[in-house]
Amino acid sequence: MTQAVAGGRSLDDWRAELRAWLGEHVPRALPPLDGHAASAGYRAWERKLADAGYAAVHWPVEHGGRGASERERLVFQEEYERARGPVRINIQGLMLAGPTLMAFGTERQRHRWLPAMLRADEVWCQGFSEPDAGSDLAALRTRAEQSGDDLVVNGQKVWTTGAHYADWIFALVRTDSAGPKHRGITWVMIDLRTPGVTVRPITQLNDRPEFAEIFFEDVRVPLDNVVGGIGNGWRVAMTALGFERGVGRRSYIQYLNRLESLRRAVASAGVRLDPAVELEFGDVLAQVLMYRDYASRVAAEATADPPTATAAYNKLIWSELQVRLFQLGESVLRATGDLRDGASTERAEEWMAEYWYARAARIFAGTNQIQKNIIAERVLGMPR
Ligand SMILES: Cc1cc2nc3c(=O)[nH]c(=O)nc-3n(C[C@H](O)[C@H](O)[C@H](O)COP(=O)(O)OP(=O)(O)OC[C@H]3O[C@@H](n4cnc5c(N)ncnc54)[C@H](O)[C@@H]3O)c2cc1C
Repeated sequence: MTQAVAGGRSLDDWRAELRAWLGEHVPRALPPLDGHAASAGYRAWERKLADAGYAAVHWPVEHGGRGASERERLVFQEEYERARGPVRINIQGLMLAGPTLMAFGTERQRHRWLPAMLRADEVWCQGFSEPDAGSDLAALRTRAEQSGDDLVVNGQKVWTTGAHYADWIFALVRTDSAGPKHRGITWVMIDLRTPGVTVRPITQLNDRPEFAEIFFEDVRVPLDNVVGGIGNGWRVAMTALGFERGVGRRSYIQYLNRLESLRRAVASAGVRLDPAVELEFGDVLAQVLMYRDYASRVAAEATADPPTATAAYNKLIWSELQVRLFQLGESVLRATGDLRDGASTERAEEWMAEYWYARAARIFAGTNQIQKNIIAERVLGMPR
């Protein structure tokens, strides 16, 4: 069995252990993650992390984690970014479904799903959004009716990240349409290989499928797959969304790495930046360092169930920082000559792919306008 992180060891020792292991084991570039076949290398990497006790350091030791505090988890994130580890294929499972099962699942449910989640033998995706239910999530209409020991699910989800290589989805479904709309919602685990499930990848302008839409037609799901009880899905989902917006999700190191790569591009091109761009460079660096200190403070205070307003602040900070950083990069890479109409360098192509994705960060995990609403209501006490 793996050891807990704690036990008298310092954060520096933990960092050194991680740096050594990741330095030795992080794989070279894996192929783009655009379907089941391409996911094999990512799954193998997750198994290796799990075997070494690093797949989910924040999970309790009894479930195969290291019982890491928020601070220790942040150190893991920092070292992972520093080592340029691959995209974590089962992030929705490890960050959302797993902790949610620990909070609301039965012993049998934890035993059924957590071990396979940890080793990415089963990869998870998040089925909340629907064509007419995004910010107003409680408007969701995917229906689930009880039939014997099953729920029968009909409806559609959309923007489901990674559904085209996932095996399972944790979905919010409507089990009651009569009362207040927040009340009749249920959280249920659905095997994507069940008859009646169709996953249709959504191809983006860059020809890559990032997410999919999912159709459910008379899909039979055992009632045993309901987590937290019928009609209690809203409460379960709000806890899960706190995990999604929390500080463990982003590390300042990835932003520092980006700034450093821009600095190197400027040095090797031997150009002088426009003073306004230079000023922005300094401002973004200051923002990154502020984010580092903020995240570290929040991590020191954090409990397992992050306060909603803190999670909202955090999401606003990292997503806005990302947009600003990639905008800065666009100006810098134009100045260095990397970014040119029809003749950009590979570095600039990669940068611009992330530049576009950064804009999506204002939308996923709850849009930034919604985060501002939360802060206005919960922190400033403004009326709804
Ligand atoms: C890259 C990416 C990945 C995603 N992955 C997933 C996933 O894996 N699973 C999943 O379930 N969903 C996922 N989503 C969907 C995401 O959660 C929704 O797009 C988001 O919640 C917004 O919903 P919507 O698109 O329906 O926009 P809408 O809710 O229609 O919002 C449209 C605009 O109106 C604004 N708005 C709406 N209501 C208010 C209000 N009350 N006050 C102020 N402004 C308001 C919004 O901020 C937004 O600017 C993903 C989205 C993206 C971009």
